[in-house]
Amino acid sequence: MVNAVTPLRQDTAWEHEHRQWWEPGSSARDTLACGWSHLKPSLSPDFVETLRAVVGAPNVSTATAVREQHGHDESMHPCAPPDVVVWPQAVGQVQELAALCHRCRVPMVPFGTGTGLEGGVNAVQGGVCFDLSRMDAIAELSLEDFSVTVEPGVTRKALNKHLRGTGLWFPVALRRKRAAGYDLTSLFVGSEGTLGFLTQATLRLHPLPEATAVTVTSFPSVGAAVACTVHVLQAAVPVARIEFLDEVMADACGRFSGMGLPAAATLLLELHGSRRSLAEQQQQTEEIVRQNGGSSLAWAEGLEEREQLWSMRHNAWYAALALRPGCQGYSTDVCVPISRLPDVVVETKQDLQASGLTGPMVGHVGDGNFHCILVFNSHDPEEAQRVHAFTQRLGRRAMAAGGTCTGEHGVGLGKRALLQEELGQEGLDTLRSIKAALDPHNLMNPGKVL
Ligand SMILES: Cc1cc2nc3c(=O)[nH]c(=O)nc-3n(C[C@H](O)[C@H](O)[C@H](O)COP(=O)(O)OP(=O)(O)OC[C@H]3O[C@@H](n4cnc5c(N)ncnc54)[C@H](O)[C@@H]3O)c2cc1C
Repeated sequence: MVNAVTPLRQDTAWEHEHRQWWEPGSSARDTLACGWSHLKPSLSPDFVETLRAVVGAPNVSTATAVREQHGHDESMHPCAPPDVVVWPQAVGQVQELAALCHRCRVPMVPFGTGTGLEGGVNAVQGGVCFDLSRMDAIAELSLEDFSVTVEPGVTRKALNKHLRGTGLWFPVALRRKRAAGYDLTSLFVGSEGTLGFLTQATLRLHPLPEATAVTVTSFPSVGAAVACTVHVLQAAVPVARIEFLDEVMADACGRFSGMGLPAAATLLLELHGSRRSLAEQQQQTEEIVRQNGGSSLAWAEGLEEREQLWSMRHNAWYAALALRPGCQGYSTDVCVPISRLPDVVVETKQDLQASGLTGPMVGHVGDGNFHCILVFNSHDPEEAQRVHAFTQRLGRRAMAAGGTCTGEHGVGLGKRALLQEELGQEGLDTLRSIKAALDPHNLMNPGKVL
């Protein structure tokens, strides 16, 4: 469940509370900020002063370096700095700032940590960047309900540190069930900042398992590693996590982390449960791995050892970039039904080789989701064109297999054309109607998704 501030909702609430701000001539702050025109102003010093009045001077910046830092994420999309960056610290401030921007028709771009991979935070029409990292309160922890309510600046690691000693943890899981009306939670979670600001989320917590074990295993081919994943899932082994690396990625991660993995198709598998059930799962998994030609397994059970293995995987993006220093990365993000995964992965690998591209593959294959991290020279138009053509083919291959062009990174700037192909004109028109209903002046993160 999430709490959100939308321009439209905010309009009404704010108007109700601060009626005089809407009436020309009735408020000094109103006059200072926008004048009387009700048109989009250039971001005048007065407007910036008004932002400072809401959040305090230390929480507003127009410095070039700060704006540039907030004008891009980790993707290759060119930096598009906002005109000003603000750091609200309470939902009331977000409401007040959003109302002001709405009143003055200034674009608003929510900013989390700027690690997205589709250019979601790039301020392509300028405006105000709302950096929400200073809203980092952890509220309403309910051990009985297995839930916690957090503000957007709370990271997964900080939350799990806070939960230490409670017997619970947050493994990035689904939220509480709810069937009352349209599913606005999913709508907002998937909206990439184009409908409003998420100011709170209620997350589902899980009991810490009694025992956990992680292993790394190599396979003779990409097809064998992916087929093994499918067999593990079909055998109903309750895997906690299963991640795939192709031979290029395994080699790159091994070198980047200093852990030295064999250059072979690789799976990282995590199992957890009671001690007894874990032993059974391990035995079952080892058998399936052997049947698929995988190497024999050694299990890491200590926390430090397990974390080392996962940090190697979490740094895959940087390990890929290190393959060609000075080049840029672009991550594809398709997701297909699990039954189609082996074929789609093998075809994609062949396509990568035929295209002569550097594109190590990595994926949460248990969900049918995988990424090729294309590392290329963006100043070489011919190579950039090959990358573009490859990503289009991959998106279409996934869609033809009944999947999607993005499983988790979102549409942002780069996947708008593929989204249209995936949803069709009617689907897209429906999204546009929702956008128009909630953000009639197209102020929330304009230029993204649609
Ligand atoms: C090394 C690396 C590994 C990654 N691994 C994974 C992975 O395993 N799985 C995965 O799913 N992704 C992964 N990603 C990509 C992933 O999307 C981002 O890392 C992360 O989820 C983005 O969070 P952020 O706070 O940095 O978002 P940002 O980049 O700040 O923003 C992303 C989008 O969300 C919007 N937004 C941000 N905060 C709010 C808010 N409070 N309200 C409304 N809109 C908001 C922004 O406007 C933007 O459109 C990885 C990225 C990197 C660099």
